[in-house]
Amino acid sequence: MKEKGIVFDIKKYALHDGPGIRTTVFLKGCLLKCWWCHNPESHKLEPEVMNFSEDKNKNNSYLRRSSKVIGKSMTVNEVLKEVEKDVIFYDESGGGVTFSGGEALVQHEFLLELLKESKKRGIHTTLDTSGYVEQEIFESISNYVDLFLYDVKLIDEQDHIKYTSVSNAKILRNLEMLSSNENEIIVRIPLIPGISDTEENLILVSQYLFTLNQKHEIHLLPFKKMGEVKYKRLNIENKMENVLQLSDERINQVKEFFESNGFTVKVGG
Ligand code: SF4
Repeated sequence: MKEKGIVFDIKKYALHDGPGIRTTVFLKGCLLKCWWCHNPESHKLEPEVMNFSEDKNKNNSYLRRSSKVIGKSMTVNEVLKEVEKDVIFYDESGGGVTFSGGEALVQHEFLLELLKESKKRGIHTTLDTSGYVEQEIFESISNYVDLFLYDVKLIDEQDHIKYTSVSNAKILRNLEMLSSNENEIIVRIPLIPGISDTEENLILVSQYLFTLNQKHEIHLLPFKKMGEVKYKRLNIENKMENVLQLSDERINQVKEFFESNGFTVKVGG
């Protein structure tokens, strides 16, 4: 039993991380390095310093605060105390708590306790995941997860390795297992210009989703130019610096493509 974990944010009134009004708890640590990640401060498991000294305010002067530690150690009870504050909103809207990251399953023992405690309190649980952990970890937590938001990025394994730094074999196997076990799943597809929005990848994703046990709803997550400043603050390379956002027309084309294949599709979370 893991009583403490590293949390880097708790977002109240989240409307795009599952049904209804939710509180999203962001756990630190992720084994992927997606080129388009807008939470690069989540990658390392341990707390880290973000440098704000180059940030300027509206008057073009440098900000006074020059750094901040990202990530703090919290107990299960401390997290649940925050989550429970908005129970009234969850009840009225059909919402609950969402665990995200990073990859929340990197801290799977802590996550398991958070999930168990949430369920004890009658709170709907959602897990936003890249799927990149061992199957046994999914087996240990899946009884306590009401809904999985499961990322499917790239089907070609070499492309997946190139753009995320890891193979997708484990990720796809875990999704197949969860789908076969009748877990509730929404498939999230990050639409990244020139990377995952190619005709070739979209056809492969559609064909792959057809092989699953259930026909899962799809949420398209178009690339947004957000989080860029975080790369500067953390002094790490931003490989997407010169990439533009997709047009509404292109996003609609992709939506229609999946709809024409019989999927229920939503743009955004
Ligand atoms: S899986 Fe999510 S948190 Fe991890 S690197 Fe990719 S986008 Fe970032």
